[in-house]
Amino acid sequence: MPQVTTPGAAAEPKKYRPNLKAPRTPANEEPAAERACDFRPVDTGYTKADALLEANRCLDCKKPLCMEGCPVGVHIPEFIAKIRDEDWAGALDTIKRDNLLPSVCGRVCPQENQCEGKCILGKKGEPVAIGQLERMLGDMADEVGTAPVCKPKNGHKVAIVGSGPSGIACAGELAREGFDVTVFEAFFTGGGVLTYGIPEFRLPKDIVKREIDGLEQLGVHFEYNAVAGRLFTAEELFEEEGFDALYLAVGAGLPRFLNVPGENLPGVYCANEYLTRVNLMKAYEFPTYDTPIRHGKNVVVFGGGNVAMDAARTALRLGAEKVTLAYRRTEAEMPARRAEIHHAKEEGVEILELVSPIEFTAGEDGFVNAIRLQQMELGEPDDSGRRRPVPVEGVTHEIPCDVAITAIGTKANPFASPASGVEANKWGYIDTDEDGRTSNPRVWAGGDIVTGAATVILAMGAGKTAAHSIAKTILGA
Ligand code: FAD
Repeated sequence: MPQVTTPGAAAEPKKYRPNLKAPRTPANEEPAAERACDFRPVDTGYTKADALLEANRCLDCKKPLCMEGCPVGVHIPEFIAKIRDEDWAGALDTIKRDNLLPSVCGRVCPQENQCEGKCILGKKGEPVAIGQLERMLGDMADEVGTAPVCKPKNGHKVAIVGSGPSGIACAGELAREGFDVTVFEAFFTGGGVLTYGIPEFRLPKDIVKREIDGLEQLGVHFEYNAVAGRLFTAEELFEEEGFDALYLAVGAGLPRFLNVPGENLPGVYCANEYLTRVNLMKAYEFPTYDTPIRHGKNVVVFGGGNVAMDAARTALRLGAEKVTLAYRRTEAEMPARRAEIHHAKEEGVEILELVSPIEFTAGEDGFVNAIRLQQMELGEPDDSGRRRPVPVEGVTHEIPCDVAITAIGTKANPFASPASGVEANKWGYIDTDEDGRTSNPRVWAGGDIVTGAATVILAMGAGKTAAHSIAKTILGA
């Protein structure tokens, strides 16, 4: 019998209706007092059930502002819709089209100023927890991940200097386009700041390693302990090794110093050195690793950015009884992510506002034992729009400490450029056009070495842009 179908009888696909009443699904954070004693992750991440609840809050806007807020243009409503359908692999693939490092970005991106900052729900309430959803999918890669498809090898070679997020993003894009990619890294391991800067409790190192392993599976070759500009030059890479192009992603890792008396005393560290000793030299695995680092009981950290927060929270985990974060403005002007400030305070870090160090003094053992501070007040706004700190004449005071850490920013490393004919500005940052091209037609650059200290996602975005420009230039397509 032929089947009779009534026109219009087919079931309409059910129209999606967001759950407008649901509050933002809370993060699964470890209790502050417990997590501050060791280097376990602060937050264990969303479960699938959490992700489904949160995905159902998304308004699925016709004009998704969240995407405009994402520097690499991740198709956010699309991956969230796939979460709702429990198509975990599809959701992860959607993110990975635009962002190779979801586990990393989900953890460290300043979402409050980017995707989540633009979410319409945030206007009257709490935005969708896009970072948590991204992180959860990234962490599911071993379970549901599909291997990215690479075009056939095109016979062209590209060298990348630096294995931080910018170098990694550029390498991944080029490998997928069929290029033969070699990343030269000065350290013995990859990841740049993701590995030696951001601490284990915020970004576990096995996650960074998994991302690097993934690139190796795409055919990217990593050469470690390879200091470009010292062991080889760009010209040697082009003329002797047959590379067609070079991407410079060397970061901006040279610390700024306070230049005040006593800054060279033992027990006074710059945050870069302190965090590198803890992360790369595994000071956090004491006594298994007896890394030379002073475990202070009374630690003072200078700065108000993410780096200062990381140093302060690391000092707590190394056993400090009191950690003070001393800042020359007030907490409201601190550039660190709000979540980091919140976590630091929750764990017991104290904030001392409106002070600037003017001298470190030593005790009888020769180690730092006190800091003299200049009292500051807020004046008129400066170029950054934040009110400028100005000294209150004649008002100083002293506080004790046995370790001091300065986290007042970094700048370009003057030894970092291995390529000739690459112009830089007066601060040493490389000049590029919007595609990352430098003044040397075979050299591109991006990440912190172009922008100055910025963010992981901006560094990745620059790597991706440069990769497309390199591919277009070499392949002429
Ligand atoms: P980098 O990550 O600095 O990588 C550069 C790499 O180049 C390094 O591995 C270096 O060893 C290598 N290199 C340098 N010179 C040479 C050479 N001559 N030869 C070979 N290799 C070389 N951003 C966020 O978005 N969120 C955060 O929460 C956050 N927290 C941070 C915490 C800390 C402690 C620090 C220091 C930074 C933080 N940032 C954060 C900033 C972010 O990490 C950087 O903006 C980002 O890593 C820059 O990426 P990059 O690839 O340009 O450089």
